[in-house]
Amino acid sequence: MNVCVIGTGYVGLVTGVVFADLGNEVICVDNDEKKIETLKNGIPTIYEPGLEEMMHRNMQDARLFFSTNIGEAVRKSEAIFIAVGTPPKDNGETDLSYVENVAREIALNIDRYKIIVNKSTVPIGTGDIVREIIEKNKKGNVDFDVVSNPEFLKEGTAINDTLYPERIVIGAPNKHVAMKLLELYAPLERLMLITDVASAEMIKYASNAFLATKISFINVIANICEKAGADISLVVKGMGYDSRIGASFLQAGLGFGGSCFPKDAQSLVHTAQKFGENFNILEEVIKENDKRVNRFVERIAEKYDTLEGKTFGVLGLAFKPNTDDLREAKSIKVINSLLEKKAKIKAYDPVAMENAKKIIPNITYCKNAYEAAEKADGLIIITEWNEFKFLNLDKVKKLMKNPIIFDGRNIYDPNKLKRLGFRYISIGRKEV
Ligand code: NAD
Repeated sequence: MNVCVIGTGYVGLVTGVVFADLGNEVICVDNDEKKIETLKNGIPTIYEPGLEEMMHRNMQDARLFFSTNIGEAVRKSEAIFIAVGTPPKDNGETDLSYVENVAREIALNIDRYKIIVNKSTVPIGTGDIVREIIEKNKKGNVDFDVVSNPEFLKEGTAINDTLYPERIVIGAPNKHVAMKLLELYAPLERLMLITDVASAEMIKYASNAFLATKISFINVIANICEKAGADISLVVKGMGYDSRIGASFLQAGLGFGGSCFPKDAQSLVHTAQKFGENFNILEEVIKENDKRVNRFVERIAEKYDTLEGKTFGVLGLAFKPNTDDLREAKSIKVINSLLEKKAKIKAYDPVAMENAKKIIPNITYCKNAYEAAEKADGLIIITEWNEFKFLNLDKVKKLMKNPIIFDGRNIYDPNKLKRLGFRYISIGRKEV
């Protein structure tokens, strides 16, 4: 099938590359000329394991193209995927302006029947909005369908998630277009669910909001464990053995960040209000999440007479491991809060430092974790990159001025850290 993907970010690029790998001819479109130029030169604009190799293979086989020319891409394609950003407005509502702009551009260029697929995360009713915009702006009597096909990939494992999704949701207005999408995804041989458009739109928000709820829930349990002397890792183990609960998304820590959960939770609260419903549970989930960083920084501050002039090594800047994405990353909030208290920061992240320099320029960036630990008054773990789990902790201890570790992700065993001579403060577990 001839496909174009409009918006070549984390979702659009991975989707386009995988569609090409399945044998389709794909044009990835973006209005960011620099991004397209970089991609045309074979350089991925995001860090995502496995992406570069798959991208090169499909560019060489002439199945994958990059362009800023949306008109040409639309005219050449049978299916047009919209994968632009849907950021939050100040009131939590989803800003649909990028999606609406793309819809207008599609309308000006459709010359025959097209399938327009919303892959961006968009609130219930957006399919109708896109349809109305195209209907109003199209030239001539061309037919089209608007489908919702929400994306569930996770940054850091995006290629794998796209090749082996647990489910593919296709919200289609009629059987014909549903069959077309089924055909496109058939080579993946994964479970597919056909729904109406509104239900597909809701599935995405309900899924993210539910996962966010699990995270805030376990974080509150961790708060209680800290005070009551219980161990959250054992509590989660015990809960997770119950197949009705499961252990995934029950890691206590600094809360959920990234470009999806915070905005999607807010958006769903807003949608509920729009339909005259309260979503108090989700509002509390967001509030709990917002408290995580302050609580953590307060626990750090408690351990010093003053933070002024103290140096902290910070390990991990990306919002989660295996990505270079810093959107809503806890690192930014923790670091800014420590800087406000006049502490000094030496940070290290395996891949996110170039992006971080644009957002937090006034700190020292280190070439590895050991350099970040050197002469530090404390070491703070923000992102649970695998390499941090396997540091030579003896070496870390010798390098540090004061061997105290604040672990926002519970990557170490407290007993081991105690044995090695560290003071170790983690989440939902006894301080040692
Ligand atoms: P992103 O910001 O990485 O990428 C969006 C891209 O769209 C940018 O490159 C931007 O330049 C481009 N763009 C904006 N307006 C355009 C236009 N008029 N024409 C062409 N290109 C345009 O965003 P993302 O993280 O890929 O997210 C895209 C959507 O997918 C969002 O709705 C998001 O909620 C959803 N989503 C994201 C993830 C994720 O992990 N990032 C997972 C699932 C769903």
